[in-house]
Amino acid sequence: MKSTPDRPLKICMVASEVVPLAKTGGLADVVGALALEFAKLGHDVCVILPAYRQVDALGYRMTEVARLSVPAWQGVVDARVQEILAPPLQVKGPGRLRVLAIRHDPFFARPGLYQEAGRDYTDNLDRFAFFCRAVMELLVYFGEHEGWRPDLLHVHDWQAALCAVYLRTLYHAQPSLSRTRSVLTIHNLGYQGLFPPEQFSVTGLPLHLFTPAALEFYGRINLLKGGLVFADLLTTVSPTYSQEIQTPEYGCGLEGVISERKHVLHGIVNGIDAELWNPATDQYLTAQYSPSDMSGKARCKKALQRELGLRSVKGPLLGVIARFTSQKGIDLVIEILPDLMELDAQVAILGTGDPLYEQQMRELAERYPEKIAVRNAFDEGLAHRIEAGADMFIMPSRYEPCGLTQLYSLRYGTVPIVRKTGGLADTVVGYTPRALNEKRATGFSFMDASSASLLTCLLLALSVYRKKSDWQRLVKTGMTQDLSWARSAAIYLQLFHDVVTPEGALEK
Ligand code: ADP
Repeated sequence: MKSTPDRPLKICMVASEVVPLAKTGGLADVVGALALEFAKLGHDVCVILPAYRQVDALGYRMTEVARLSVPAWQGVVDARVQEILAPPLQVKGPGRLRVLAIRHDPFFARPGLYQEAGRDYTDNLDRFAFFCRAVMELLVYFGEHEGWRPDLLHVHDWQAALCAVYLRTLYHAQPSLSRTRSVLTIHNLGYQGLFPPEQFSVTGLPLHLFTPAALEFYGRINLLKGGLVFADLLTTVSPTYSQEIQTPEYGCGLEGVISERKHVLHGIVNGIDAELWNPATDQYLTAQYSPSDMSGKARCKKALQRELGLRSVKGPLLGVIARFTSQKGIDLVIEILPDLMELDAQVAILGTGDPLYEQQMRELAERYPEKIAVRNAFDEGLAHRIEAGADMFIMPSRYEPCGLTQLYSLRYGTVPIVRKTGGLADTVVGYTPRALNEKRATGFSFMDASSASLLTCLLLALSVYRKKSDWQRLVKTGMTQDLSWARSAAIYLQLFHDVVTPEGALEK
């Protein structure tokens, strides 16, 4: 691979979630950390998200940078653009990171990001089409008033995908955006932004784009598909997932479109924010620890057992932190828990989602109160304490674009037990005696998405757990993996440079 050229790029990242401002899942972690990494490497980065109530509640200082008149289907709608001065997103280094929020309270000042009480907001197309249109208007404004013209428009998932469509259609003739190239990163193909055809006018796009060659998907509007068709570059969050999504099993109906564009598709594994997720400095924990001194981890385990009301036992404590969806194989965990209870093991579970899974989990916790603890909440601190206090982490995903929790587990010396798919296959080396001896093994993995395979894999993990020196080797190998963003950010930047060259390179 060519080395990263020196020219600093102007990168505009558009996403519906950014840590620490708004988060429902890994997307937020990735956008926040990647933006910081680009800026630390000297690039000029601007991140744009909606001004949700969640963002306001954090109380960070905000200053107004623009007022926009955004064309929308119902006429022109006003939006304010505010810069958020959030210390965790302030960059130490030569680059610049600006975090901007699009404020239109009727759309975004709500209790949820996408839904309430498990139901999607019925006007999500209005909300995110407006968001994308406002972003485009802002870029035009920046071009005209500040001379700031992005080289790259880096959009994430279906909520931001329309920006890539707008760039090539409604904003095609904008002189200030003529050199801008777009990149769509797919964090999860399972969420595509599907809407009924009669709402197409909400997008503001000409009707001829409602065809199978553009945004139509079996009679419905598909925003992610629009991004897949129109973006100059496509990335997804692991090499294995980038291959999987070209097949009917994982392509969620989009495998044909993706295969057609495979020459511009790249799989780049996520890194982790090594400052936020560092057991040696983590302030959410009772005790800190590192590979050279693991005594703090035992204290974290005891504290977690106390916090969750679990009895202190000798056997391993297993952690689960996930959205309760079938994607995450939560039903497989539920199926094996009674068997697991016959063994010397405990489980700490944190997650929200499907009400049926929540209820089944709660029932199991009531049946085995000293061995299973379940918390149905979104609790950042507890997530850190489970990563630190558990001995193993269970992640039997049916599909997993990258997965972050197994990466946090590796860093925290909590051995991941994963289904061999997507990013889990790329980031966890399954135990075999040979892989252990060669200091390659970092966890346990299985193929079949069945409770029998998960249980068999867990039994193997429990048997290795009893061999202390083998277990320590597994833990140490995991903890010393390079999970930082540096490598992945360099790959993104190389791709960016390739796509903006040659024309972009001429621009000053
Ligand atoms: P996904 O993005 O598919 O949900 P990832 O593993 O990529 O899965 O990222 C999940 C992120 O969300 C992690 O940072 C994890 O710690 C966090 N998370 C998930 N559920 C909860 C919860 N209930 N409370 C706190 N953090 C959670």
